[in-house]
Amino acid sequence: MGFLASAEAVVFRAAAAAMLPPPPPDITAWCERNIVFDERSPMPGPFRIERFPFLREIHEVLSPEHPARDVTVRGSAQWGKTVSVLQPTLGAWHEYCPLDSLVVHPTQSAATEWVRNKWLPMRRQAVGLRAIFGDGSGANSDSLSNQETLDRNGSLKVASAGSPADLTGTTRRLVIGDDLAKWEMTDMGDPEALMISRASAFEDAKIVRISTPLLTGTCRITKAFLRSDQRFYHVPCPHCGQMAPLTWENFKASIDPERLHAAHFTCEACGCAIDHSHKVDMVSKGKWVPHNPRGDHPGFHLWRAYVPQRDWASIAVEYAQVMGWTRLTVSEATEATIRKDVEAETEQTLYNAVLGLPYEVASKGPDWEKLRDRVENAAPGTILPRGIVPAKGVILTAGVDCQQDRIEVHIVAFGPNFQRWVVDYTVIPHFIGDDEGRDALNALLKTTWRTQLGRRIALDMMAVDVGTFETDVWDWAKKHPWNRVMLVKGAATHNGPILAPMKFERRADGLALKRQKRAFMLNVSQLKGDFFGWLAKEDPLDRGYVSFPTGMGDEYYRQVTSEVRVLRTSRSGVTTAAWVLVEPSRRNEGLDTMNYAEAAARRKNWASMTPEQWAVLEQERGTEPPEAERQPDLLDARLPIVPPVGAAPKAGRPAPSDSDWMGDRGKDWF
Ligand SMILES: [Zn+2]
Repeated sequence: MGFLASAEAVVFRAAAAAMLPPPPPDITAWCERNIVFDERSPMPGPFRIERFPFLREIHEVLSPEHPARDVTVRGSAQWGKTVSVLQPTLGAWHEYCPLDSLVVHPTQSAATEWVRNKWLPMRRQAVGLRAIFGDGSGANSDSLSNQETLDRNGSLKVASAGSPADLTGTTRRLVIGDDLAKWEMTDMGDPEALMISRASAFEDAKIVRISTPLLTGTCRITKAFLRSDQRFYHVPCPHCGQMAPLTWENFKASIDPERLHAAHFTCEACGCAIDHSHKVDMVSKGKWVPHNPRGDHPGFHLWRAYVPQRDWASIAVEYAQVMGWTRLTVSEATEATIRKDVEAETEQTLYNAVLGLPYEVASKGPDWEKLRDRVENAAPGTILPRGIVPAKGVILTAGVDCQQDRIEVHIVAFGPNFQRWVVDYTVIPHFIGDDEGRDALNALLKTTWRTQLGRRIALDMMAVDVGTFETDVWDWAKKHPWNRVMLVKGAATHNGPILAPMKFERRADGLALKRQKRAFMLNVSQLKGDFFGWLAKEDPLDRGYVSFPTGMGDEYYRQVTSEVRVLRTSRSGVTTAAWVLVEPSRRNEGLDTMNYAEAAARRKNWASMTPEQWAVLEQERGTEPPEAERQPDLLDARLPIVPPVGAAPKAGRPAPSDSDWMGDRGKDWF
């Protein structure tokens, strides 16, 4: 009897167990079952939570069983947000229940890149994902933007925030917004609001926001984080046990240019130095602490100091790079690793990608009179006159703006360490669609400028605004090689790359490809913010210092500082930034053409040259010419433009006084 009874009990228990829902997914356990880092990873082998203890609580709130509807994860780049948070959440949810999920990326190309380079490789490798979605060999009707489960009981939709049509007409219980800070407003409204509304039909939906931050004031992920309970990961001091988060301010205070590898944190309770050798142990004993317990959802902030992939010295080294110290202090070996692995090209990328913090961009230039006085009141001999290229300025470019009645040209020299020197500015009183205008630009391309040491160099690149007079500008430009004349147009986006090739319809004759080599969209918003940041530097040796020659005149300084960045918040609560004139009477061609000149320099690798490449250029151009090539100074036209054919040549153009900088428009300008 007893035997039978217990057999019955076994059957009953088994039947009851079969009717129970499966246990709630443990995303951490999912990672351990499914993720194996390959040989190229900094830590090859199976995923082990001991290496990423801070992920456990993030995984918990992302589970379907956790009541939080919204979850925010803000952090630096490259600690596994995608591979250890986003993708495992998708995998564990799809394993747990029939599900329609949605992942939204900032752009179509970002969405495609994620599917190809991150999602599909994991789908092939992870047992759990293969069981649900197949290995991609065609058993189910996969497309990049819509992936159905093998059981036909769910799907993953992949969309772009830039294509709002993708974000309508679908309901999804799990919604993940990736790289949220890069999302921009669209003609059809706010993509973030559209994404949230996809989940409105579900009481138990999960809306996840994941991103590195961007700019203070407009950054969507920071906005979400500030609304949240703001969890920071506290770790114990190895000396006294005091729990505290690792902060950038604390670390920065210890960075010594001479000893970057000794950079450390300092315990605020006992004053002891905490060096990198303590990291693993401290992080294993850490815990998340909400700094804003009244926040309306769980929000996490995590940056490079905690992650096993990179050490603390790498943070100091990238800071040194941004400060322009590296050439002085970093050993050859370290410098090689910096170049290979550096994320921070600018202070902004250091903040966003390494520190995981929003960056406060310069929203306006310095006062124009102060800038002018800095130049005009400088000690004699420290500043070059107009028209001379300094020895260090070995890339010479022109930024060109076309107007109906004139062409404005900014000549700028660029050197290492993001430094630049304005060489000259001129206004050609002709239209680019007229022979006179075209001839004048042709002449500029043939002209050479004298360097400080007496060499003569020509423009490396001219960047011409193609935004307004497109046909006329193309007609002129196509007669010149694409590696000397590029065409630029300001992009509406604030978040894109600084230079992005324009897209043209593909044509059989290959014209589109030829055009693509020449024409670029510019992120002028970023260029302006960066330029104003550099413009505020006061030490000529500083990284990014901007030098001006004497005699540029007041109107010039008014123009290069003519705009200010303002924030506007819509009724729906989305904050966007716009650049506007400081006052309506200001003109901004000087600022625009400065951006174009910089774009031209970037096309010539200004932002990415190695010290060796700079040395080669400096040897070629930044030295005295051989005796035979020296020319007497009296041949130097101060603004050396060759007159158009048929016009009577004249001697050098007289130097304009401050008051008539713009005044020679319409006169006999050559
Ligand atoms: Zn301590």
